[in-house]
Amino acid sequence: MSVSFPLWFLERLRRAHHVVALTGAGISAESGVPTFREAQTGLWARYDPTELATPEAFLRDPALVWRWYAWRRGLIAQASPNPGHRALAGFEDVFPKVTVLTQNVDGLHTQAGSTRVVELHGNIHRNLCFREGAPVPPGAERPGEPPTCPRCGDYVRPGVVWFGEMLPTAVLQAAHQAAAECEVFFSIGTSSVVEPAASLPLFARDKGALVVEINPAATPLTPHADLSLRGPAGHILPALLAALTTP
Ligand code: NAD
Repeated sequence: MSVSFPLWFLERLRRAHHVVALTGAGISAESGVPTFREAQTGLWARYDPTELATPEAFLRDPALVWRWYAWRRGLIAQASPNPGHRALAGFEDVFPKVTVLTQNVDGLHTQAGSTRVVELHGNIHRNLCFREGAPVPPGAERPGEPPTCPRCGDYVRPGVVWFGEMLPTAVLQAAHQAAAECEVFFSIGTSSVVEPAASLPLFARDKGALVVEINPAATPLTPHADLSLRGPAGHILPALLAALTTP
């Protein structure tokens, strides 16, 4: 599939000093990590992820939520970065500053070589104490049950931000600073419905950035974007990198 880009867009992009990419589950879909909107499979098909990824669900049934995360950790452990992640990492050879703001918890941007990554929703490979929120190093696990915190004895939870929870202040500040500073803001593979991430492109646009969406489907951001590039990130981002690097 060949991809072409409007000339005005390439010219404006080439002049950018700071490029920001907000990414969502769609960029990792081509690595085999299912998005939340895709049907859950196997044993988990009857559960709604938005009802498992909450503090209330964990309090109600810690073992169930822990097992679901163990399954997702297993899927993510088998995944590796795809051409979309790698092209975004390649942007660092083209622009003086590139910031990736990701809603993904899979760590695939860092694995691909991106060096300035703000993990808005945490990282599934980390563990936190449920009561104190402090990091807990990996330790002995009891099969099917959350481990307990060696300090306070409460349950250990995955190091991700659940629905209904606030993002850490420092993380949100870093995201707003990047959005305010950049000249071009990409929104890639996100349905643009989960706040506060969904508002970041609008904030960037208010501060003067060009907003570009990359997604095979329209989203609530589409009418507000300066340009919508329809298609999978794994095709469009490598084509864009090639357009920027070929004279
Ligand atoms: P989402 O599931 O709501 O939306 C995914 C979006 O990606 C959709 O708009 C879809 O059209 C688009 N898409 C699908 N395939 C694509 C492709 N190949 N290229 C580009 N776009 C593609 O995901 P979201 O917006 O990230 O928000 C839901 C929440 O799910 C977030 O909080 C996130 O933390 C969490 N989540 C993370 C992962 C992960 O870490 N990989 C996986 C699932 C869910």
